[in-house]
Amino acid sequence: MGDGYNFQQLKKHILPLSNAAAWEVAVKEWSLVGIHEADEPETCPCGHFPIIEICSIHNRITGRATEVGNICVKRFLGLRSDLIFTAIKRIRKDPDKSLNADAIAFFHERRVLNDWEYSFCQNTMRLRSLTSAQLSKRRDINHKVLAVIGRRGFQGPQYLGLSARPPRLIRPGLAGKPSPTAQPSPTAEPSSRPTPSAGTPRNAPRVRGGPGFP
Ligand SMILES: [Zn+2]
Repeated sequence: MGDGYNFQQLKKHILPLSNAAAWEVAVKEWSLVGIHEADEPETCPCGHFPIIEICSIHNRITGRATEVGNICVKRFLGLRSDLIFTAIKRIRKDPDKSLNADAIAFFHERRVLNDWEYSFCQNTMRLRSLTSAQLSKRRDINHKVLAVIGRRGFQGPQYLGLSARPPRLIRPGLAGKPSPTAQPSPTAEPSSRPTPSAGTPRNAPRVRGGPGFP
């Protein structure tokens, strides 16, 4: 590709963490669950350096998680984290500006914004003249979002737990073997997914259908 984003190298990183073997299918298993800005430049799994805008992604089937740069997440996985980073840049430049729809939905889903703030953002995002109370609230919300974006793993304990989980790749031979981390609802597998055996991870259904980034 010539610009430091090595697709083959990224594939080698993502595919072993995925259930599907075909790249086009494997990418559909991944959701954007967190974004943050790194204090120190980091290296993307594709080999590109430096990356600052880091995206945490989670595989709904295998339960695995990893981090990829903002460019690769969009270019190769099709997840629109760039729209959220656009909103971040805008409110950092002018705290009186509103978050955009993508950022509002994302930060609500990640529980950075509570339900009231979620409604407030929706109701005021298109307003150009706000009351002083509204403007003050908007600034508070922007401040909160900017504070959280500097922290890795703000997306909450549910996802931190998932990413800390040991490797859980699909192994069809393990049917019936009780897992020490077995969870109470082994029957909650999504019916749409063909499962050749019972040896599938049980945590996948706990993740809501992704943060709205197909
Ligand atoms: Zn990359």
